[in-house]
Amino acid sequence: MNTRKKILLLATGGTIVSAQTSDGLAPSLDITNLFPFLPGVADAYDITAKSILNLDSSNIQPEEWVIIARNIYESYPDYDGIVVTHGTDTMAYTASILTFMLPNIPIPVVLTGSQLPLAHPLTDAADNLRYAFAMSASSLPGVFIAFNRRIILGCRAVKVRTTGFDAFESVNCEDVGVINSEGLMINHKVLPVLSGKCRLLSNLCSEVFLIKLTPGLNPRIFDMLLDMNYKGIVIEAFGAGGIHFVHRDLISKLQKLTESGIPVVVSSQCLYERSDLSIYQTGKLALKQGVIQAYDMTTEAAVTKLIWALGQTDSLDEIRQIFATSYAGEVRI
Ligand code: ASP
Repeated sequence: MNTRKKILLLATGGTIVSAQTSDGLAPSLDITNLFPFLPGVADAYDITAKSILNLDSSNIQPEEWVIIARNIYESYPDYDGIVVTHGTDTMAYTASILTFMLPNIPIPVVLTGSQLPLAHPLTDAADNLRYAFAMSASSLPGVFIAFNRRIILGCRAVKVRTTGFDAFESVNCEDVGVINSEGLMINHKVLPVLSGKCRLLSNLCSEVFLIKLTPGLNPRIFDMLLDMNYKGIVIEAFGAGGIHFVHRDLISKLQKLTESGIPVVVSSQCLYERSDLSIYQTGKLALKQGVIQAYDMTTEAAVTKLIWALGQTDSLDEIRQIFATSYAGEVRI
């Protein structure tokens, strides 16, 4: 009897399948040629590999998120787990949005990639794939990133290094797991809890703008965003959520936005710990204008949650409700 877990490998491009071209590194390796690089893996798991995209992840955008989510949704009933290979640059965005697009996914969906191509003699790709396969065979439901011996909740992942093998961190949340000589060790308290049937919620609204405040930012930027038809704004504010109103009054502009039905989500420029706009006057005044707090969410999760939320509804009240809910551990209110 075949007891190997059935795993689907979906390749989307990235360094992991890249080779040197005259224009620099670009995705080129065919994922079905992967197994010679991973001795033993084909004996441990029953793997089906399929290339669905072949892009540097800087080119992965909402259109591609829909393709990836649809492939996962259509295939998951036939597999024990799914591994998605993906460029590292935007992997945290893809992992976050898949969390929202595929609520209650009942099997592990594990994204991985590498800092060096699979064919490079010093590559981290083979190891990362091994960790991803191990997690995908764990039967633990959710969307995760496997990288450098760590398993991270997809909606808590941030790429923090451009070249180091420890490229990803789980921000404001413990790791889901670690791989050591005892095997895959899972931290069960971090795992998402299923609350219903899996659905594909693939309506997205790309018109979301992320703005990082700088001292002296001109408030007219928000008029421009309205003119450009942006439907939602995420502001990375200062510290716990400060927004300037002296000399240049950003806060009264926020009122104009929320009155126009535009959700404004405020997070912090600090990577770690939570924002709380109720502490300082510079945050409290913004709260009075109706902005939505991101609390301890990563910017990647806040932006993708807004892109997804605006695809589900254009009611500001419903979007507020969506942000007041943690779907898979992306926020601690
Ligand atoms: N530029 C590459 C990408 O994100 C980087 C990587 O895969 O590590 O596709």
